[in-house]
Amino acid sequence: MAIATVNPATGVTEQTFEAHDAAEIERRIALAQSAFVALKATTYAQRGDWMRASADLLEADVADAARMLTVEMGKPIAQSEAEVLKCAKNMRFYADNAESFLADDRLDNPGSVNASSAWTRYDPLGVVLAVMPWNYPLWQVVRFAAPALMAGNTGLLKHASNVPQSALYLDTLFERGGFPAGSFMTLLIGSGAVAAVLEDRRVKAVTLTGSEPAGRSVASTAGAQIKKAVLELGGSDPFIVMPSADLDAASTTAVKARISNNGQSCIAAKRFIVHTDVYDEFARLFTAKVSALVVGDPLDRSTEVGPIATVGGRDELVELVDDAIAKGAEVLTGGRAIDGAGYFYAPTVLAGLTDDMRIVMEETFGPVASLYRATDRDDALRIANQTTFGLSSAVWTTDQEEEDWFIRSIDAGAVFINGMTVSYPELPFGGIKDSGYGRELAAAGIREFCNLKTVWKA
Ligand code: NAP
Repeated sequence: MAIATVNPATGVTEQTFEAHDAAEIERRIALAQSAFVALKATTYAQRGDWMRASADLLEADVADAARMLTVEMGKPIAQSEAEVLKCAKNMRFYADNAESFLADDRLDNPGSVNASSAWTRYDPLGVVLAVMPWNYPLWQVVRFAAPALMAGNTGLLKHASNVPQSALYLDTLFERGGFPAGSFMTLLIGSGAVAAVLEDRRVKAVTLTGSEPAGRSVASTAGAQIKKAVLELGGSDPFIVMPSADLDAASTTAVKARISNNGQSCIAAKRFIVHTDVYDEFARLFTAKVSALVVGDPLDRSTEVGPIATVGGRDELVELVDDAIAKGAEVLTGGRAIDGAGYFYAPTVLAGLTDDMRIVMEETFGPVASLYRATDRDDALRIANQTTFGLSSAVWTTDQEEEDWFIRSIDAGAVFINGMTVSYPELPFGGIKDSGYGRELAAAGIREFCNLKTVWKA
């Protein structure tokens, strides 16, 4: 895949970039390693000051950075602005909390291990490779980079090939904020060059956010090298609506949960599982609200849904929906690509899905919602858990016993009650099953790339 910015709203190639050659890759790995030695010797207070200064720079750049995101991958401009500001918030969160998250933990009763004292501490691992996707070009990276740098690790970013300008923006951001040169750098490389970087002895670990095939490939290299890996992969999150739910609120939130980021979010609700008693009313409300969405130029502030980020992504969506229609799915609205320039797809609601349709098991990365009718709560849970993914989930109910039962029973990394899944710096984020392993954000996220060192003293 060429390393290039192709504006998905127009289909026009705005800028292409040369990949780094072997000498430049080597120079950057060596610099990341020497920066690690320098960074490890600094205090949390010093790193916190640099992180806050980097957040200030990002906030000052909000207009230009947001425009860059929208031009590179097509999200509506207000959502791009929100992404930039969320990154700054996350940076400040780790600047403020890294030290307490990584504080020594002393054993209350060291005599039980024949010691005068015993404790654990967190040491950084070293250079960490980050392989990242295009859907949140700044947020996905910063949610790794902020905790990694605050812990004293350094980072090498291999960003998705269609967001090179975002990658180059991040290449300088932390150094501009004061971090030692080389603490966080971009490698402009294709996916075929990732394995060799991960095999380098100076690279100690890897985090990948992206698709399941990419995760399998990178995890197998990490496994062969006995290197720590965190995988944040796809999702096909259920959004369950039970009879006690407020249907108007549930359907409004359901639309947002499906179409945010033009439907290209790992934690987007993708399968709407509705109890039969309220199915018809929910389907009516939901379809009406999806049909009313404004699709168009993502730089126009009235636009609610922009284009699919790449022509390949748009074509995959066409295949998935056409397969379902050919096998008998009912199209309640949409169901087709929009003719003309750019990679637009009509917001779509499908019903009458059967297990032979690809869409039942595969992730839909675009504004396409699948509606399922559940006969009772056991049936709703069965449908929710039948996917191979397990990222997040949402349940709408006001019945306390039912709420507790769903929280215990859903196979996913998170459950949101009467709301939609959102990532927050304060809450751990990650999945199970084919959605990956490990956690980002909160205290759990900063500890992933640390050595939990045990100290015992006679
Ligand atoms: P992708 O094709 O897997 O690409 C993600 C990154 O992996 C890109 O940098 C890509 O580089 C690289 N890559 C692809 N194949 C690789 C391989 N075999 N070896 C090494 N690197 C490889 O995914 P995407 O289409 O960009 O992103 C969408 C996917 O990400 C969806 O499945 C979505 O659910 C998932 N996602 C998950 C989370 C989460 O937190 N769980 C968050 C956001 C997105 P190139 O661009 O050069 O191919």
